[in-house]
Amino acid sequence: MSPVESMDVMVSLCKRRGFIFQSSEIYGGLGSVWDYGPLGVELKNNIKQAWWRAVVMERPDMEGLDAAIFMHPDVWKASGHVDGFTDPLVDCKSCKRRYRADELKDPKKCPECGGELTEPRMFNLMFKTFMGPVEETATTIYLRPETAQGIFANFDNVLTTMRRKLPFGIAQIGKAFRNEITTGNFIFRTREFEQMEIEFFVKPGTDQEWHEYWIKERLNWYKRFGINEENLRLHEHGADELAHYAKSCFDIEYRFPMGWAELEGIANRTDFDLRQHSQLSGKDLSYYDEQEKRRYIPYVIEPSAGVDRSLLAFLCDAYREEEVRGQKRVVLELHPALAPIKVAVFPLLKNRAQLVELAKKIADDLRGDFRTMYDDTAGIGKLYRRQDETGTPWCVTVDMQTLDDQQVTVRDRTTMEQIRIPIERVKPLISEYLQKAWQKP
Ligand code: ATP
Repeated sequence: MSPVESMDVMVSLCKRRGFIFQSSEIYGGLGSVWDYGPLGVELKNNIKQAWWRAVVMERPDMEGLDAAIFMHPDVWKASGHVDGFTDPLVDCKSCKRRYRADELKDPKKCPECGGELTEPRMFNLMFKTFMGPVEETATTIYLRPETAQGIFANFDNVLTTMRRKLPFGIAQIGKAFRNEITTGNFIFRTREFEQMEIEFFVKPGTDQEWHEYWIKERLNWYKRFGINEENLRLHEHGADELAHYAKSCFDIEYRFPMGWAELEGIANRTDFDLRQHSQLSGKDLSYYDEQEKRRYIPYVIEPSAGVDRSLLAFLCDAYREEEVRGQKRVVLELHPALAPIKVAVFPLLKNRAQLVELAKKIADDLRGDFRTMYDDTAGIGKLYRRQDETGTPWCVTVDMQTLDDQQVTVRDRTTMEQIRIPIERVKPLISEYLQKAWQKP
């Protein structure tokens, strides 16, 4: 079972605690488009940083890239997206609802009203816009449906400027857009989303080995940052599921509240993309292997993860409800590196000016090193519960005794244990905790 009983629990927590808001809410919202609030953007940035650290900074064989969203329209011809990036769309003749035909049990009958469905029409998922001031003569430009093509188009630039040899990879994080027929399940499937993609270039013949390597590596990343093993599984694509460019593909699936669904796809894209771009652009994108004294087009292993889906999975997996002294406690057991706020500081009594002043001073001092929150808008019990619900690992409380002995109480989110330490020990203690290996409770 998913750690969260329904998606509504997540949607409500995210709204209540400033993680995620409906886009343009004051105008009634825009369907399946979401804005990340103050805590959501922190969590999202932390996830991206944890990914970048693991796949770029900690590795000798990886480079980073940040390509533009707009690309030459021929890129999408070469990649096969203009002709092939389509889903079969059907309409209900009675209630006018729209579906993706391949997601229906009965492709002839509307699952809502039982009405007759139209024959499927292939619908291209790319968003189009125009570049240039006069629409009639402007160039049709696509919003990229994946970040990958920016990497392929820059393969030779990175190879030569960074003097790379195979195997090596290029990693990129960025927005992608798909005019999905059916969206939903909160941030699981949206029309604007963010991807974290790696294209790992290898010698043909070693591709299967590297494919297996990256599947393990990526599974380990989710576990390292707190996802329970039992909520992860692999799904191998059958021949009917494979994308036009892939020789084989494994999805890492997560047990979301609505069921098992794809978190990340890890595909063997062979030499499809580089070969296509070589042909259409006329630029030779082959690689000269000095050892073998021959040129060939590298094969590519692509681990492609969604930032938003990862965020949803990390949130769901961290969610825990428990009874403490007859009261419900909701706690997000997020990995401390992912937690949006690392430390919260409270005065025990908000009407004591000296306590407030000292607590604010401590918070200011921590702020340069960690995302810190100061709060005095409720009683201590409520302040702790608020922080538990947003996954803050540590709370620091300043009380009357602090004025005498310059010591504060530090409370641990998971165990709720409290220790008393000198004010100057707070910063080093949190740094030490953040550097230690973390075990999910
Ligand atoms: P699905 O089968 O769910 O439509 P996909 O196989 O088309 O996904 P990929 O093309 O493999 O997805 O994209 C890689 C990753 O990008 C996915 O694993 C997912 O995390 C993310 N992603 C893709 N489409 C969306 C979307 N509409 N909303 C949010 N994230 C998405």
